[in-house]
Amino acid sequence: MRIHDKIDIYSLLDRKFNCPFCEKEHYIPIKLIFIGKDAISRIPYLISTLVRGKRILILSDEITYRVAGNKCEEVLREDYQVTPLILYPKGTKRVYADEKYLPEILAKAKNKDAILTVGAGTITDLGKYVADSLKIPVICFPTAPSMNAYTSGVAALLMGRLKVTLPVQPTRAVITDITIISQAPLDLIKAGFADSLAKAFANADWRISSLLTGEAFCLLPFKIATEAENKYIDKGDELVQRDERVISSLMEGLNLGGISMIIAGKSSPASGGEHLISHFLDMYAHFKGAEIFAYHGLQVGIGVIISSLIYEKLKVLSSREVRHLLSHRKIDYDKEMKFFGEHVPIVSKEFTKKLPVIKRLPELLPSLWDRIKEEAFSLVYTHQQIVEFLSKAECPLRFDDIGVNEELAYHAITKARYIRGRFTILDIADEMGILDEIVDKLHKGEI
Ligand SMILES: [Zn+2]
Ligand SMILES: [Zn+2]
Repeated sequence: MRIHDKIDIYSLLDRKFNCPFCEKEHYIPIKLIFIGKDAISRIPYLISTLVRGKRILILSDEITYRVAGNKCEEVLREDYQVTPLILYPKGTKRVYADEKYLPEILAKAKNKDAILTVGAGTITDLGKYVADSLKIPVICFPTAPSMNAYTSGVAALLMGRLKVTLPVQPTRAVITDITIISQAPLDLIKAGFADSLAKAFANADWRISSLLTGEAFCLLPFKIATEAENKYIDKGDELVQRDERVISSLMEGLNLGGISMIIAGKSSPASGGEHLISHFLDMYAHFKGAEIFAYHGLQVGIGVIISSLIYEKLKVLSSREVRHLLSHRKIDYDKEMKFFGEHVPIVSKEFTKKLPVIKRLPELLPSLWDRIKEEAFSLVYTHQQIVEFLSKAECPLRFDDIGVNEELAYHAITKARYIRGRFTILDIADEMGILDEIVDKLHKGEI
């Protein structure tokens, strides 16, 4: 494989290969990514090629069981010993990826040869986590093209009062029935679409961070996900009409987004500053004991709008202006973090991780600025493009659209940077005073 070759990532599954971009060896341990019509009836055959043993746990919740779990059970029953486990909400409106569901899943999954998850984010994360702890394979059967965790090597779970992202063994296969995912609730399809838009910005954030800190960077994740993205990004109108070709491309984009994270060995190519805004909103809701504001991807879409505005402001600056802006602003981090109240110690621990690079920005950033412009700013879409893409897919564009009031939106924009140790464009923007301009837009009702 060479840099300009068209990359067929599917031919590289489950084998080691040398990367033309970073020149390191990558390995994607997933064996199969299958998207097709009536894929559900092919499950028994596909599983027979992927799993040794006949004891399968089918994990779903009450909704996804009705959508596809019961049919999966039916088609597998002939050749397999199938145990269905249907999760019901415990104290919330719907089931979340919360550790309180783990004991019953662990109990049922013991002595099984594999777990088949039938669902979207929640069921997938719970199933991946349990399969990983029992060292058995997990196979994902998505019910919605709603996020990129089907193929990723992490599971996001609520542990105690915190959402944590844990490394897990990736799925052995993703088997997608295009007819089923095309009938998913529209909000889940929109959420997947908006989540996938993070890719360009996340990769740009990662490139900047790598230039500043020296952390490893590889362009392969960006390349593979972009090829799929080009097939759906400006077709939001067809997406909401449930066009199966476009939905199939979106699913492909999401799966490649998950694979990107495996290649990178971290979530950086799919999650940058825009994700911190969504995580901030989840954290806030969780601390208040409230339900989340909106699906992950829909919140990320708003984060992407913020990131696109920041990149727009930054790309016109010269290195001299950058130096000037950095020399003027002094932030009292402890005062800012007071917002988090009793959770300050957790937040502060995260923020401290990136403090050394933040402190060195006045020295590092101006001299790297031209390179950052060339290698990172070139990856992102303009603000106008992002608004067009999201509008076409009828996704929320403003905080208000997802029930976040102006005051909380202000905190999301200015405090999201503190909740994770990852260095993102939000850090640069705040250090340069650019976030103040974004907040102005918020107060004018523009975002
Ligand atoms: Zn590479
Ligand atoms: Zn995401």
